[in-house]
Amino acid sequence: MLRHALLVAACSCALLAADAAPARPNIVFVFSDDHTPQTIGAYNLWLSPFCREQRVTPNIDRLAAAGALFQNSFCGNSICSPSRAAVLTGLHGHANGVRYLGEEVTPGTWKFPTALRAAGYQTAVIGKWHLGATPSETDFWCLLPGQGAYVNPSFTSATGSVQRAGHASDVITDLSLEWLEGRDRSKPFMLMVHHKAPHRTWIPPERYARWLDDVTVPEPATLFDDYANRASVHKTQKLMIDADMTLSGDLKLYPDKPLDKIPEMYRARNEAFRARNPQGRDLVRWKYQTYLKDYLRCVKSVDDGVGRLLDYLDRHALADNTVVIYASDQGFFVGEHGWFDKRWILEESIRMPFILRWPGVVKPGSRPAAMIQNIDYAPTLVEIAGGQTPPSLHGRSFLPVLRGETPADWRTSVFYRYYDPGHGVPQHLGVRTARYTLAHYGATDEWDLFDREKDPDQLRSVYADPDYAVAVAELKAELARLRALYGETDPEPYVKTARPARAKAAADKPTKPGKRKTQADR
Ligand code: CA
Repeated sequence: MLRHALLVAACSCALLAADAAPARPNIVFVFSDDHTPQTIGAYNLWLSPFCREQRVTPNIDRLAAAGALFQNSFCGNSICSPSRAAVLTGLHGHANGVRYLGEEVTPGTWKFPTALRAAGYQTAVIGKWHLGATPSETDFWCLLPGQGAYVNPSFTSATGSVQRAGHASDVITDLSLEWLEGRDRSKPFMLMVHHKAPHRTWIPPERYARWLDDVTVPEPATLFDDYANRASVHKTQKLMIDADMTLSGDLKLYPDKPLDKIPEMYRARNEAFRARNPQGRDLVRWKYQTYLKDYLRCVKSVDDGVGRLLDYLDRHALADNTVVIYASDQGFFVGEHGWFDKRWILEESIRMPFILRWPGVVKPGSRPAAMIQNIDYAPTLVEIAGGQTPPSLHGRSFLPVLRGETPADWRTSVFYRYYDPGHGVPQHLGVRTARYTLAHYGATDEWDLFDREKDPDQLRSVYADPDYAVAVAELKAELARLRALYGETDPEPYVKTARPARAKAAADKPTKPGKRKTQADR
């Protein structure tokens, strides 16, 4: 039904004139899930050289070469739904109602697509949404239910549901290109292309099932972290590749389970695993390699979609007047500290990729150092579109930064607050500056202070070191200032009393207490 409607729309538009060039720029906002910038070639992070050599992200890199790559882009709560709500509303979770996974934005809250529609834009969102309510503020929406499926995914829209054959990354790109073909060409457009990949359980398209088989992914220096010299909570989390990444579901060792109907593509690697039967650290290394390769294969499927969108804009003479953004809802641990997943205030978790191309406005190849946050996206996009934002937003437009003119009073710290109990990561709040990361864990009343200038891997808290007493005092004052600035007064620990979650997501559900397994989980 949906496909029929799209085809009809595409046919009718073929009768219209060639693409007009609206005075205001179009916006294509590609937003993936859990794609950490360590795995983007264009970033200068530890896995970037490997990703460049293996051409993991050639199209995202192409976008960066022609636009701005933000080196310091962060979320305020490193988990799917809260980050997406912050992007949509320009507000932190305590103000938009989304502190936890699967919650929906408080009804009546302003969302940026509304302002773009009021400014004359045609708006659409296609792909993963993961917020309770449907996006009625956009002209068109076509969404994966919850986390959605990697293989032959189903979508829901205002006109019904439809299942499409293929891999989620390819299908989301197909639907996006179909919407572009069928759009109202008398208006500028804002298209949100929201990928499912590379979210857990990292199932790539079959064309990449064997890609990277013959190479070894570099290991992070902290793969065998002992979690000493930090708050005790680092030892009780449940996101270890060793103990918490499952051989069956995550690493597809037993394809007899209905893992999105995986075909035969894992047979050879599973047979090789059983023949070798690795143990101890050897097993952790096998799990790391297997996890990372599937993750990177999923990233490559997203990158393919970026390439197809860029090619479409080129072919239709739209590239010069279209802002193209690539971002993802948070960072991810790709083996650092022996972990997968996100949630912590630590760098790998809170750093979001953010790349923006805007010919004639943004200097190609620029790498702004200004700290931006996901709360800034909404006011920035609205200002680009010439719309109006309410005065109550937490975020600030970074359009001046895009123009190469960072304001003198631009932020020098970011506020962070994590609420969800998932993966045994306790609630915490904190502040991140250019040099320091300060965190407080309410349940145990512990603090961490990391001096990232001397300890970039964040392995040793200097909170109790007298040499850092002044820094601790200044950072606590800054944290208090930010909480006051944003009107954040939630107690610690916060007890959830809000509306019940609607969209529970299987893959993001916390590991159940008492279910922690060791390498024997085969
Ligand atoms: Ca996510």
